[in-house]
Amino acid sequence: MPNLNETHDPHLRCWVESAHAPETDFPIQNLPFGVFKRRGSDDGACVGVAIGDQIVDLTACLHANLFDDLAARAAATCDEESLNDLLALGPAAWSELRLQLSRLLRDDSVVYRNDPSIAEHILVPMVEAELLLPMQIGDYTDFYAALYHATNVGTMLRPDNPLLPNYKYVPIGYHGRASSIVLSGTPVRRPRGQTKPADSATPVFGPSKLLDYELEVGLVVGPGNQLGQPIALAEAEQHIFGLCLVNDWSARDLQTWEYQPLGPFLAKSFATSIAPWVVTLEALAPYRCAAFTRPAGDPAPLPYLSTSENQSSGGIDLQLEVWLRTQQMRDQLHESVRLTQGNFRDMYWTIAQLLTHHTSNGCNLRPGDLLASGTVSGNTKDSRGCLLELTWRGSEPITLPNGEIRTFLQDGDELILRGSCSAEGAARIGFGECRGVVLPANAEG
Ligand code: MN
Repeated sequence: MPNLNETHDPHLRCWVESAHAPETDFPIQNLPFGVFKRRGSDDGACVGVAIGDQIVDLTACLHANLFDDLAARAAATCDEESLNDLLALGPAAWSELRLQLSRLLRDDSVVYRNDPSIAEHILVPMVEAELLLPMQIGDYTDFYAALYHATNVGTMLRPDNPLLPNYKYVPIGYHGRASSIVLSGTPVRRPRGQTKPADSATPVFGPSKLLDYELEVGLVVGPGNQLGQPIALAEAEQHIFGLCLVNDWSARDLQTWEYQPLGPFLAKSFATSIAPWVVTLEALAPYRCAAFTRPAGDPAPLPYLSTSENQSSGGIDLQLEVWLRTQQMRDQLHESVRLTQGNFRDMYWTIAQLLTHHTSNGCNLRPGDLLASGTVSGNTKDSRGCLLELTWRGSEPITLPNGEIRTFLQDGDELILRGSCSAEGAARIGFGECRGVVLPANAEG
């Protein structure tokens, strides 16, 4: 786990005014990474860091000689349209770049005091930037790491046998589809597929009627491992660059018909949305907490998934929210309504356990791979991270403030995921947003 250092100091002041706006997700203590392009410019995409309502262009900083040594070597990987080369460098380089960037942005920065005009060379207003997918994602794995989610879903699908006997030993996951991961803001088309109506002996093919979201957190893989060489739990966090918000869109009717015997497939692979900003694990150091407390009587994790450090500080106190704005709400100028309020510390498995388990058979992870946590659900009704659970498979519809009713998503619905961390003696940092509007299914043809 990264230690606290001067970059986490809640009293830091930044010369970028908007970094002090009370509602900003991006104060100087955060410094999340993404990929952007200047709108209306022929310049290629490159890596940037969010600060207030601005983006720091790391390549411009490098060219202005604002970094040295390891930070300069790290910044030299940033003139690329993905974070992948930076991810391959590992935590020493990430950390030095963060430190030098933090010092550069502080209002006592000698560089800035001597020449305030550097602001216009290294900052790009977010409103003038187009954000792109932050990583080139070679492989995507989706886990199922929340006990409450697994128990709720299992209860609906298998009332007599909700939690299968492997759950408390194995971090369950499946290989997701990387090609259909889209950036926040990209509309998501309702999938068509096979479903089997309850009153029919045979399936039909058509638009999904039970479209859902899943509130998840993504782990962005750093250097990764050689094939055949597992990553020990004690080293796992050295391989996690940071976290981002993920919406694992799910067609429940397709899923119910196809998921046995090999697990999710077309019910998931039509789209997964991710937020544009990756919050580094180092930025999350002030919000670390104990791993989830296993209920009395649960088995201890097997030794390869167990260290005392993982138990004492493997969790992350990350508040998560899901908001909905329907087409009618937009037409009537109603604000979005919150559906879910959960916390990432409720996951049964820690991020380190997920990564270590994934490599435990020798499987290699590569820079830019995405591991998603699985739906984040807590033990209260308002912390359930998908509509399947919130409406108990449609049997408990939700009435929205404008009178509309939802069991599953309708065309035109917009989902917005948000996340933030706060702690005593630390700044509040946020994850930006992960948005997506549901488009109608393609016409039959
Ligand atoms: Mn999922």
